[in-house]
Amino acid sequence: MHSDYYSPVEWEKIMAFSETKETPFLVVTLDKIRLKFGEFRTGFPQAKIYYAVKANPDLAVLSLLRDLGSSFDVASIYELNDMLELGVSPDRLSFGNTIKKARHVREAYQKGVRLFASDSETDIRNLAREAPGSRVFFRILMDAITSDADWPLSRKFGCQPRMVTDLVLLAADLGLEPYGLSFHVGSQQREISAWDAAIAQSKYLIESLGKKQIHLKAINMGGGFPADYLVKSNPLSVYAEEINRYLDFHFGDAIPEIYLEPGRGLVGEAGVLISEIVLISKKSRQDLKRWVYTDVGIFNGLMETLGESIKYPAYTDKTGETGDVIMAGPTCDSMDIMYEHFKYQLPLSLEIGDRIYWLSTGAYTASYSAIEFNGFPPLKTYCL
Ligand SMILES: *Cc1c(COP(=O)(O)O)cnc(C)c1O
Repeated sequence: MHSDYYSPVEWEKIMAFSETKETPFLVVTLDKIRLKFGEFRTGFPQAKIYYAVKANPDLAVLSLLRDLGSSFDVASIYELNDMLELGVSPDRLSFGNTIKKARHVREAYQKGVRLFASDSETDIRNLAREAPGSRVFFRILMDAITSDADWPLSRKFGCQPRMVTDLVLLAADLGLEPYGLSFHVGSQQREISAWDAAIAQSKYLIESLGKKQIHLKAINMGGGFPADYLVKSNPLSVYAEEINRYLDFHFGDAIPEIYLEPGRGLVGEAGVLISEIVLISKKSRQDLKRWVYTDVGIFNGLMETLGESIKYPAYTDKTGETGDVIMAGPTCDSMDIMYEHFKYQLPLSLEIGDRIYWLSTGAYTASYSAIEFNGFPPLKTYCL
C-alpha cells in the first residue's frame, strides 16, 4: 500500500529514520515538497505562489519554500512575525485572513506588509485607517461550491457579489488599492469544475467593476488542490490543464494576474505520521469489530478525521486476513474516534505495540495538534 504513495527510496529513508524513534511523530520529506512546488510552477507558470503557512508551519518546510522563491499567505500576526524572522521580506507576504484585529493590521503595515484580503465593511475601514494605500483582495463567498469539498471552508469567508462590488467601491473611496478578487473553492476539492464556476463569477465581477472605472488586476484562486488520501485525486497537472483552460475560456487574451495559495496540495503528500497501537479490545465477547487505539488521535494530529472527512491511508507491516476495526485515539475524550462508520480493515494478526503508518499526513496534522490535552505532548515533526 505505501508503494501507492511513496517511492521505494523515499519509504526506505523514512523507515530507516523512524525505527528507533518513540511514537507518535510526523516525518516530512522535503524532497517531496520541492517536487510539488516544481509541479505548481510548471502547471501554473504565470502564477504567484503564496504557500498557506497554516498547512504545515514547520521551520524547515518554511525555509525550504523561502529558498525556492515562494511567497506566503499568513493568517495571523504570529505567522507573519515568524515569516519575517525567517528573513522573508514583507513584499512576499499576504495577510489573507479576512478576520483580524485592527492593531494587528497596523503592526503588519508597520512591518511593511501591503497586501491584505477582506470581505467586510468594518475590515475595509480598518485597513484604510491602519494600512493606508494597501492592495486589497476581495473575497467572494463560495458556499455553493465548497460543499463538494472534503474539508469545506464553507460559509465562513467571503461575501455575496453585490457586496463585493460595494466593498471595492468603498475601498477605492478610502484610498486603498482594490487589487483583485479572491476565492477558495474548499479544501481537498476533488471537483475540478469548482474552479470553473469561481472563475466565471470572478470574470463577471471584474467586468461589471470595469464599467465603474475600477480595474482589478488579479485573481487569487486560493488553495483547494487535493492530496492523495484513501480516495485518490487527479494529478496536479490535470488540475492545471483544466484550470488554465477555464481561464482562457473566460478571459481570452485578457487573463489577469494569477495568485495561488496552496497548502494541502503542496505539503500533504510529504508526510507520514507514525503511531503505535496502545490497545486492541472488544466491547463484548461476540463483538465482530475490534477497537484499535493508537497513540495518535483527533487531538494530537488527526483533527481532520472529524466527521470522518479526510480518510488517510493507514498502513501496517502485518499481513494476512483482515477484519473491521474502529480506530480511536488515546485521550479520555469520547470524541477522540477517527473512524467508526467508515469501515477500516486491518489484519487480524495486529498486536499491541505494532506501528500504524498514516500516509499523506503532511498537511493540517502537526499544526492542528493540541498543546497538552490529557498531558499528551503536541505532535513532533522531523524533516528529512
Ligand atoms: C487554508 C487556506 C488556504 C490553503 O488551502 P488548501 O486547501 O490547504 O490548499 C489558502 N488560502 C486561504 C485564504 C486559506 O484560508
